[in-house]
Amino acid sequence: MSTENRDIKFIKGIGEKRAQLFQKRLGLSSLRDLLTFYPRAYEDWSNPCRICDVTVGENLCIRAKIASEIEEKTSYRTKVTTYSFYIYDRTGQIKVVLFNNRYLAATLQKDAEYLFYGKVKWNGTFREMDSPEIRGTEHMKIRPIYHATEGLPSRMIEKIMQNALEYGDGEENLPPSVVLQNRLMSHAKAIRQIHFPEDYDALSLARERLAFEELFFLRLGFFALKQRSRGNTAKPIQPVDPTEINALFPFSLTDAQTRVIQECMNDLSKTTPMNRLVQGDVGSGKTAVAAALCYACRKSGYMSVMLAPTELLAQQHYDTLCRFFDDSGFRIVLLTGSVSAKEKKDIKKRLKNGQVDIAVATHAILTEDVSLPRTALVITDEQHRFGVAQRAVLSQKADSPHTLVMSATPIPRTLGLVVYGDLDISVIDQLPAGRAAIHSYYVDTALRQRALNYVAKHLDEGYQGYIVCPSIEEDAENDLKAAVQYAEQLKQGNLGKYSIGLLHGRMKPKEKESVMRDFLAGKIQLLVSTTVIEVGIDVPNAVIMVVENAERFGLSQLHQLRGRIGRGTAESTCIFISGATGEQAVKRLKTICSTTDGFKIAEADLRLRGPGNFLGQEQHGLPHLKVADMVNDQAIMTKAATAAEAVFQADPHLQKPEHQALKEEVQYLFGADRQVEFN
Ligand code: ADP
Ligand code: MG
Repeated sequence: MSTENRDIKFIKGIGEKRAQLFQKRLGLSSLRDLLTFYPRAYEDWSNPCRICDVTVGENLCIRAKIASEIEEKTSYRTKVTTYSFYIYDRTGQIKVVLFNNRYLAATLQKDAEYLFYGKVKWNGTFREMDSPEIRGTEHMKIRPIYHATEGLPSRMIEKIMQNALEYGDGEENLPPSVVLQNRLMSHAKAIRQIHFPEDYDALSLARERLAFEELFFLRLGFFALKQRSRGNTAKPIQPVDPTEINALFPFSLTDAQTRVIQECMNDLSKTTPMNRLVQGDVGSGKTAVAAALCYACRKSGYMSVMLAPTELLAQQHYDTLCRFFDDSGFRIVLLTGSVSAKEKKDIKKRLKNGQVDIAVATHAILTEDVSLPRTALVITDEQHRFGVAQRAVLSQKADSPHTLVMSATPIPRTLGLVVYGDLDISVIDQLPAGRAAIHSYYVDTALRQRALNYVAKHLDEGYQGYIVCPSIEEDAENDLKAAVQYAEQLKQGNLGKYSIGLLHGRMKPKEKESVMRDFLAGKIQLLVSTTVIEVGIDVPNAVIMVVENAERFGLSQLHQLRGRIGRGTAESTCIFISGATGEQAVKRLKTICSTTDGFKIAEADLRLRGPGNFLGQEQHGLPHLKVADMVNDQAIMTKAATAAEAVFQADPHLQKPEHQALKEEVQYLFGADRQVEFN
């Protein structure tokens, strides 16, 4: 057993009971766990501040001698005992007060020198430091701050970490060539420096090394994941001639669509399952790509499943496919939560018996009683709503199908490597020709009436429009525009003569469906809605959109919303209304108005909001990154990915003796729940 697997209870300062606390509260049980529990921040005790330079109100460290005897006073009223004394250095003196800390006060000696860490305040006549942390001058270092929890304060973890490092600091886990080429600090040194840095340069190199390591193994792990699904278990699908594909649609496919369909067909023709992501900006025509593949699948005698994140979208895909495959005799079914029990039972039976060609579904198809024996292809639309785990369930049901995920969230390439590392990627980087421009404006709430008049003008011309609100119903706590009241006001007010519909997430699926149908059919002219329309809804005659409280939405979300218009040949207009004055909000709204390029918007969004918010649930199922930062470490990310790729190219099964350590590390990181195999 290597030292890394050692139980932490043997470390000085831990013992049986504390080991349990570490396990329970922080999930740490081995020496390795402990050593990779990195500080969340640091306190700078390394560079004490001269008393004359003290800034009131800031945390700082002073190195000074105690000038006076300690004066003890107990207040009769509050029963608090204070211990006060003066400290000095060559530049001045300052008063220090401790509260009820008899123990600490007793250890302090006049004329001795200490470090005092805390905030200095100005009490009207002189400067005073209340309850500083006091240490001997040998503590003049950068000190780690750990995520503390009940029973395990940061200072205790710090002490324990010092002890832990005496047992070992971890073996080098990267090949020497990688360390050398990338000029990395050694693993052992990085572990020591991240906890107890000599100086800030060393800390930054340590952080860089550990981030590199993390991203390197993530990338390598994804290769292993890919490898895993590369058995010869998938059903091969005969490629279909491009002219035959083109004839399916009422338009001619863009070059990008054609290329992506070819890339997919190529994968599908093999017995190794396809594992591909199709990225395409809103409106790039992903549905047609999906339809083409379903068609090929059917021609080879298999079923395909198309999964959508919402009922509305499933319904729309169903309708679209029914239209595309009008006279083909294809058996297409729709399985969602709102299908009647009787119908569900019937559909499930047909699925089981292989009497279906294309099944369009929501996650309702993930239930246990559904089996999909003849399924060769599973397509998930707008994949960011589905987790890795759900994809895995589907793979099982359908017995190793080809899988395609379609996403409209453009992800910067480097980040894509991290988030979608186990997938091959095709990009539809072109919009269908003949799309008219979308003009975007960002206006203050004072201009709302003018915006609405502009909407009315479009409705008069026979077009349709959307108004998007951030909430469903008004409540006292905030003054967000709410869809329900908004629709009511419009009906009472000067847009009353138009037919106005309402759509939000709390409506019953049947109600939503009928509203959407009416909108699609043009019976509803203006749709007031929450973000339920965000994903995938396609009504080419809708050419104007107003977004209320636009500051409430993320950039990528605004981009998705705006993607609902500009789908036909008429010019479209999107008006973002916002009363926000915050710098960030204004910047975001200006960005969204300045470009319609989804990739640019995604990059900006990532920068402005950080990866957590940007990715949302998408991150689900990914190994947790401890050091690496997906926004600021893009350069390291690229280097680490390149290094991992080189290793993988040279030795895809990690069989070489010098790669055994790597293999173990990947299995450790991805192993338990992800079943990584290299063989
Ligand atoms: P998204 O990629 O956002 O899912 P859709 O698949 O919904 O986009 O397509 C958007 C609209 O563009 C639909 O009305 C679709 O019929 C149309 N469309 C798709 N491909 C083409 C094309 N090659 N030429 C013209 N229109 C197209
Ligand atoms: Mg779509």
